Amino acid sequence: MDCIFCKIVNGDIPSLKVYEDEHTMVFMDIAKDVDGHMVAIPKKHIKNILDCDEDILNYLMATVKKVANYCVDECGYDGVNLLNASDESAGQSVPHFHIHIIPRRKNDNVDA
Ligand code: IMP
Repeated sequence: MDCIFCKIVNGDIPSLKVYEDEHTMVFMDIAKDVDGHMVAIPKKHIKNILDCDEDILNYLMATVKKVANYCVDECGYDGVNLLNASDESAGQSVPHFHIHIIPRRKNDNVDA
């Protein structure tokens, strides 16, 4: 399958991996637009939340929470933005379900 995030899961292209378990993975977003910008994905190829069953959604959200808490508890951030675009109409550019995790600090002036 010609999916860039599936290629990352399979190790066919490199990524800066932050977290991985049986069902999910978190890696640094290549955009480098905002300090600490990551994406959390299910390993299974699912286009977006509209196609996602509840089990996978629960695994993904548990991973998102783990990483969000780690950012705040261990890395000195104060909070996080969680962002998702589901479908091209909503601005989804990579057709593999992902949740952007953007760590935030008070008064960091990030426009997320
Ligand atoms: P979307 O526009 O909400 O679908 O977000 C897709 C995200 O994937 C963008 O923030 C891209 O920077 C990111 N992205 C695209 N290709 C790669 C890659 O190879 N590694 C990591 N992030 C990527």
